Amino acid sequence: RYRLKSGLSRTRAQFGGRLKSLFSRGTVDEQLLEELEAVLLTSDVGLDATQHLLYQLKARAKRDKLATPEAIQKALSDAMYELLQPLEEALDVQSHKPFVIMIAGVNGAGKTTSIGKLAKHFQAQGLSVLLAAGDTFRAAAREQLQTWGERNKVTVIAQQSGDSAAVIFDAIAAARARGIDVVLADTAGRLPTQLHLMDEIAKVRRVIQKADPSAPHETLLVIDASFGQNSLQQVMAFDKAIKVSGLVLTKLDGTAKGGVVAAIARQCPKPVRYIGVGEGIDDLRPFHARDFVDALFE
Ligand code: GDP
Repeated sequence: RYRLKSGLSRTRAQFGGRLKSLFSRGTVDEQLLEELEAVLLTSDVGLDATQHLLYQLKARAKRDKLATPEAIQKALSDAMYELLQPLEEALDVQSHKPFVIMIAGVNGAGKTTSIGKLAKHFQAQGLSVLLAAGDTFRAAAREQLQTWGERNKVTVIAQQSGDSAAVIFDAIAAARARGIDVVLADTAGRLPTQLHLMDEIAKVRRVIQKADPSAPHETLLVIDASFGQNSLQQVMAFDKAIKVSGLVLTKLDGTAKGGVVAAIARQCPKPVRYIGVGEGIDDLRPFHARDFVDALFE
């Protein structure tokens, strides 16, 4: 809890800090709503979610005759919680064996780092993990994953040549043969505008389905929270290509744009499975709407 608060410190400074002084007046009037709108927009909550939250606050102010700073703050944080709560859906990796997680995202979003964090997270639950070095565009990505695997005694399936789909296909077969619990399959970074690469990742997904008709059991899109509103396009484009089933929202520690979770909730809702709050191996949290909202407002 404490680390989540410090992880969200920049968004909090932008958000909670400024709200406190706004609410101190103790009335929900036009001026407050206008200033609140500005705060929400600069935290990347986005127009749609901002309007939704303002509407909720206005309605509650009228209904419950809110007249203290605490009551107004609580009404807004309740509305935010209700908005984000549907995104809280933990991943149940024990529902299949091996549980195949395909990981996608743009370059630099934090895929490789998140794979390392996830591997450790699952191992800590007593599960065995295998990594598939499916980023075959960059030799450095493969090496990074292999080095990481050696250091942490996690098997990495990689090939000197060969395409992403083939590597992941082999990795699933290997995981099945070895009785592994979770396969984390990396893919090369790509932009939604690189249409041929979006076609290619759709093909990777189809090949995964050939290896196991029920797979991928999770298609995780890793997005960098500091992309703010641009994240929405990424969610939509990757969803179209590979049916995104969950998100990892990284770098919340380095940005004041943590409000983008609210925009995602309104415009392209997907479960936020995990959030990244630092570069360290332990800086990954399951997304808890209540903790997240509390960390923003406290
Ligand atoms: P990839 O290209 O998607 O595989 O991205 P990487 O995993 O290589 O990450 C790119 C950079 O972002 C690296 O410097 C990571 O240390 C950093 N990074 C990843 N996740 C986080 C996070 O949650 N917080 C912070 N501060 N940095 C992160």
